[in-house]
Amino acid sequence: MNSLAKPVSKLPDVGTTIFTVMSALANEQGALNLSQGFPDFDGPEALLQAVNSHMRNGQNQYPPMAGVAALRQAIAAKVLDLYGLACDFDTELTVTAGATEALFCAITAVVHAGDEVIVLDPAYDSYDPVIRLQGGVPVHIPLQAPQYRIDWDRIEAAITANTRLLILNSPHNPTGMVMDEDDIAALSALCAKNDIYLIGDEVYEHMVFDHAQHLSLCAYEDLYARSFVISSFGKTYHVTGWKVGYCIAPPALTTEFRRVHQYVTFTVNTPVQLGIAEFLQHHPEHHQRLPGFYQTKRDLFCELLKGSRFTVSPSQGTYFQLLGFAAISAESDTALARRWTCEQGIASIPISVFYQNPDTCRHRALRFCFAKDDDTLAKAADILCRL
Ligand code: PMP
Ligand code: GLN
Repeated sequence: MNSLAKPVSKLPDVGTTIFTVMSALANEQGALNLSQGFPDFDGPEALLQAVNSHMRNGQNQYPPMAGVAALRQAIAAKVLDLYGLACDFDTELTVTAGATEALFCAITAVVHAGDEVIVLDPAYDSYDPVIRLQGGVPVHIPLQAPQYRIDWDRIEAAITANTRLLILNSPHNPTGMVMDEDDIAALSALCAKNDIYLIGDEVYEHMVFDHAQHLSLCAYEDLYARSFVISSFGKTYHVTGWKVGYCIAPPALTTEFRRVHQYVTFTVNTPVQLGIAEFLQHHPEHHQRLPGFYQTKRDLFCELLKGSRFTVSPSQGTYFQLLGFAAISAESDTALARRWTCEQGIASIPISVFYQNPDTCRHRALRFCFAKDDDTLAKAADILCRL
């Protein structure tokens, strides 16, 4: 047989992402979909109008490779305001096709064959395959369930002469863990002793609850000097399908980042960038209100589940809530998520899939997305309380 017919896979052990699998199953079964993380409400009207008017006004050709200047300026102003970092929009800020592209470019920019990259499990599912595509070696270290705090001693013990990069995600998907000042102090101490790069996956930066603060790697000079800080407008503006995000990094890191970015997507569609720039300038109240907006949803969802048999420890951040099901079923989380989608009409995400070895996931929990209208949350809770 022709040897071209079946390529030798670079990722032979990788299937279709759990988000695609569970959303497809939810659609097929007509189930309430609280699996893949996306809102069931639309983005702000003023933003939709701004994008529409730029499209109508002929802003439909290639923008600059690094992103529309007005958007990069608006992001730089926001980052200065929120985190005190005066970054140069020309040399330190790149607009990307969602955070996913930014993660790919940042990892590709610094990871050489044989380099080790520390990833904390449960980990967002794109990190590991992208590291391996570069010939890198992912080194998975578990967060400590059930609070999912970072085990800094274990990270320190895992660092070798080959460690190139540490990927941090706060607020954390899927657990809702939010890094605190102690974490930042431990990270600073670690970085003072080791030449490693950092990726701050901060896509849920505006979803932090109970008066806690999001501590961005941008806000600390020693950390920012070695960091790629990544965010996503999909999350902040309820428009996950637009796939627009950005990466902030010091000039030398941004240069390497753009060497990759220019050949991955080159740039990101013009009217959406212009629309977001306009909205960012005129509606800062949107992101200022976001923690309260999502905290209200989290509280509603948790309150509605009070009569259920799930174990609920309210999420500290993100728009995800873990629900422990040990008192309800002895099945694996993957089997249960599928069965409840088909039989109970509610879809969730099993968390064991975010572990390098799913068998090491001891916390029997499913992840539910609460970025939903209140009546969707009520319908979901109704089903969950009967289980
Ligand atoms: N990182 C994390 C932790 C996420 O949850 C997501 C969300 N999907 C992404 C990155 C990717 O974001 P985007 O949709 O902007 O590519
Ligand atoms: N980040 C989203 C989640 O965690 C999904 C992103 C995707 O579908 N690739 O649900």
